[in-house]
Amino acid sequence: MAQESIKEIYGSLVFGDSVMRERLPKDVYKAVKETAENGTHLALDVANTVAAAMKEWALENGATHFTHWFQPMTGLTAEKHDSFIFPAGSGEVLLEFSGKELVKGEPDASSFPSGGLRATFEARGYTAWDPSSPAFIKDGTLYIPTAFCSYGGEALDKKTPLLRSMDALSESAVKVLKLLGKDVKRVNTTIGSEQEYFLIDKEKYLKRKDLVMCGRTLIGAPAPKGQEMEDHYFGVLKPKVSEFMHELDKELWKLGVPAKTKHNEVAPAQHELAPVFETANVSVDHNQLTMEIMKKVADKCGYACLLHEKPFDGINGSGKHNNWSISTNEGENLLDPGKTPQDNKQFLIFLMAVISAVDDYADLLRLSVATAGNDHRLGANEAPPAVISVFIGDELAGVLKSIEEGTKYDGSGATKMSWAHVLPHITQDTTDRNRTSPFAFTGNKFEFRMPGSSLSVAQPNIALNTAVAEELDKIYEKLKDVSSDKIDEAINGILKEMLTAHKKIIFNGNGYSDEWLEEAEKRGLYNLKSLPDAMPHLLSDTNRELFKKHEVLSDVEIESRYEIFLENYNKEIHIEALTLQEMIRKDFTQGLVAYMKDVTNEALKKKQLLPDLTISYESDIINTLDDTSEIIGNKIHQLRDDTERAEKIEDALEAARFYHDVILKDMEELRTFVDKAEKIIPDGYLPYPTYGQLLFSLR
Ligand code: ADP
Ligand code: MG
Repeated sequence: MAQESIKEIYGSLVFGDSVMRERLPKDVYKAVKETAENGTHLALDVANTVAAAMKEWALENGATHFTHWFQPMTGLTAEKHDSFIFPAGSGEVLLEFSGKELVKGEPDASSFPSGGLRATFEARGYTAWDPSSPAFIKDGTLYIPTAFCSYGGEALDKKTPLLRSMDALSESAVKVLKLLGKDVKRVNTTIGSEQEYFLIDKEKYLKRKDLVMCGRTLIGAPAPKGQEMEDHYFGVLKPKVSEFMHELDKELWKLGVPAKTKHNEVAPAQHELAPVFETANVSVDHNQLTMEIMKKVADKCGYACLLHEKPFDGINGSGKHNNWSISTNEGENLLDPGKTPQDNKQFLIFLMAVISAVDDYADLLRLSVATAGNDHRLGANEAPPAVISVFIGDELAGVLKSIEEGTKYDGSGATKMSWAHVLPHITQDTTDRNRTSPFAFTGNKFEFRMPGSSLSVAQPNIALNTAVAEELDKIYEKLKDVSSDKIDEAINGILKEMLTAHKKIIFNGNGYSDEWLEEAEKRGLYNLKSLPDAMPHLLSDTNRELFKKHEVLSDVEIESRYEIFLENYNKEIHIEALTLQEMIRKDFTQGLVAYMKDVTNEALKKKQLLPDLTISYESDIINTLDDTSEIIGNKIHQLRDDTERAEKIEDALEAARFYHDVILKDMEELRTFVDKAEKIIPDGYLPYPTYGQLLFSLR
């Protein structure tokens, strides 16, 4: 694509800054900007003017409808479209869109997860315009990003607490900066979320009930080849895949999503897209859009896009790396160490605030990424373990050590490298990349690597922002009464104190090793392996207090989320258990029986013709398949009975434990035998494609 045309299409469907500047009166434009950047309240007359301009722009760009676009607790986005039409009698029509319609919507909230927050008679919910995330046009509809709450005003979505947590962090950071002599209006959280995904052939996808219903395969013998050749990571893009990626970039760019990097990932048929970072709220919205557009473009290109955390057994699953930093409204990145981090007090304070936050609220961070899908990944040597630790690298470790010991840090110094004459000299980074840490400092930001690929990144960022706000408040309390001539000394004291208290969370070694798990246990770190292990921590006094104090989530909102997370987990595994049974009974068994019948007939015919033949090969096949199918028969009954037991458990946590301890185990055992049989049955007998066909058929 020519450079000009990228410029032309980028943001062409967004009611963004340049459109607003062009179409809004100056004072209205300023008011909207002020609201977007500093979270100030917007008056209705301003909204009326914005709505009129938005409508004109949307109509000119082919829109016929508008929708309040929101993010309920399903993890997906929701929308209901209204046309702009207003009949004016005798076949005439007016096209209307008022400030009131822009600002507030009243969807029926009764069919969204509410975790017991909403009595059924209080069906009404509200959506409210979020002016800090730009409206856009998609498929002929004007999309207005909104927050969603219940009739009683409790948040029923992921955006509301995210916005609140950004405010909390800003408030605390601004106070601390003021003590350090820096006067800024606002501090923003920035996020760049790298998104992994699988592409598979659409026709094949549609033949597998497990993929269609659950997003992951529930059975399937491994293909002879997996990812052991390490030939897919950064491999040459296949032409059709490349076409898909190109089309995807184009669609995202139109919507103002800054898609930047694309490459093949470790597992066969696995890929990644990374955007340029943006303000947290916009970045979360854009990630939701990215996932949606990925699926849509994939479908158009003859693929299905899998966003599940573990679509295939035996090869890597997909995650989403949450790159996170904080910067002032003037654009200064507060996690930038500069050339001499040892002398950069501001940086060290923010660094220690983050480290302390991760230590004090490790359980909260862990549970913020807990889902049925992600449980398959964490700790399976392809993603970080379920234990949270922080990687800071050698240089910062040296700096922190000198603070703790009260010695002078003389710096490691940058080294120039040259590994062949013709090549340019390159400055070596002071720290190597660490790929095994769940929470790694990567130059001027932290990278939280635990989120699952299908997760809304709102969740971990709500936890992270609020926890860091709390640590900054603690620092503020200790520094606020110190006179300016003593401040440096006081900061040193605080840093040392924090380091001593929290150094147990710092780990610079191999996070995938067994030794680390032992060491982590000795250090007293959490190892919350599954969602049912993690979720009760949401109700701990510490975590409740944190959210309440910073006005991010109230007690009832916390309890409702607790219920919803557990219910989602239980429902997901329940669907998997039913799908597995159906797929084995209706699809796998068909193939098994047909093959056994053919082999038996073949053997009988041979025997008839030549009675002395041993037919040992055929007998062996029949014997093995018969043994295996008997076990499968028993195990499928077991799964059926246990699923019925699970359905009767009323308490959500008790049910989750049962799904984890019993149902998942039943499913795992069952699949072992199905996979064993599948290894023997020729592909053509199975009414669904095998792993080999799914993973190695991309062109
Ligand atoms: P990796 O080496 O982990 O694959 P990438 O270069 O693919 O790294 O992705 C890094 C991500 O971090 C990008 O999305 C980038 O925009 C984002 N990023 C860079 N700086 C910041 C920052 N200050 N705040 C948040 N995210 C950032
Ligand atoms: Mg990364």
